[in-house]
Amino acid sequence: MSEKGPINVRRKEVMPQVREEVQRYRSDLIESIRAGENILQLPGLEIRLAKAFGFCDGVQRAIEIAYAACHVMKGKRIWLIGEIIHNPEVNARLEALGLLHLPWNIDGEGYEHLGAQDVVIIPAFGVSVKLRRLLEERGVQLVDSTCGNVIKVWQRVRSYARRGITSIIHGKSHHEESMATASHSRGEDGKGRFLIIYSEEDARTVANYITHGGDRETFLTHFAGCYSPGFDPDADLLEIGMANQTTMLKGETTRFQQMLRDAVQQRDGSTERFHAFDTICGATQDRQQALLDLLEEKLDCVFIIGGYNSSNTSHLAQIAARQLPTYFVRDSACLPGLLHVRGFNINTRTEEDIPLQDVARDFSRTWRIGLTAGASCPANIIEGVILRLAELRGAMSEGILLHR
Ligand code: SF4
Repeated sequence: MSEKGPINVRRKEVMPQVREEVQRYRSDLIESIRAGENILQLPGLEIRLAKAFGFCDGVQRAIEIAYAACHVMKGKRIWLIGEIIHNPEVNARLEALGLLHLPWNIDGEGYEHLGAQDVVIIPAFGVSVKLRRLLEERGVQLVDSTCGNVIKVWQRVRSYARRGITSIIHGKSHHEESMATASHSRGEDGKGRFLIIYSEEDARTVANYITHGGDRETFLTHFAGCYSPGFDPDADLLEIGMANQTTMLKGETTRFQQMLRDAVQQRDGSTERFHAFDTICGATQDRQQALLDLLEEKLDCVFIIGGYNSSNTSHLAQIAARQLPTYFVRDSACLPGLLHVRGFNINTRTEEDIPLQDVARDFSRTWRIGLTAGASCPANIIEGVILRLAELRGAMSEGILLHR
């Protein structure tokens, strides 16, 4: 086992340069809109920004760590596991700086070639227990950018495991963060149990089984790939503790907690064997709440900006789409004209041409757009979308240029 612990690369001798480099992700225009009432008013176009949007502290820190590693560990092979965050622009830039890629996988398959000469950066959403151990065994120099909010979830599920409580994780079973959390829920002795639930139907299925029991095999088929080895719903749902992927929908998580709490109450006559801890991070909650507030305003549509594989951004799109025409775009290249956008369909999970509403082409009235971006979306990308909208509406006035 390696003696090397994770190294701190955010050293004072490199940070001035790193901060200079990450300036590329900021935007004078966005700061100027923020400094006002979060509204940009142009001829024929009004853009209202949510009160909280874009980079969170965890993402900002992870990006700084990746840049700092390039300086501190210069001359070494530096690998990044998966994506530092779920944003294509940020990841492409880091690749251009020479960072090499390792696939994020739960078991560390394909890591055999690594050794003491290698530096490996752990992304903001963390890695599984097994993968971390394997990296330590291979003697690589680790640089850890796991967000503190993710570590809090791991602490919670490990404490469930110590007390013999099954972790019910509200998250996406294929998302790196949920997979890492599931691995931590196995506890120190590897005997802890977990079940990952995602949808209302999943929550209802678990609640029904808790209250009324049911067919074990049908239950296991429904949750195939989402539970710990040897999971037995008859024994393993007796005492449960809930935790979430940090970027889930707040309202949904609260509802699922209530459903499972009620089920335990109905079965036991008490909630003693139900535990819950809301592990949705503050940044996610703030962005969701800010969007809900934005939706109270008079708008024609909403633009959501971010990477399509970003969980928190997809949830923003889901919230907005309940109320208004919503366009989930990656960047300004998704806006070829006023007929359609190239956007992400959250139902089919594909990028497709989505017709723009008629008002986009009606120059006799102001087009009112609400706009927000996920926690992994840089401000310069948001600026690009705003400028493109202004250009398409012929509203690239001196006013907007002065803002920049
Ligand atoms: S969204 Fe939350 S958990 Fe994820 S990096 Fe940001 S602060 Fe951390």
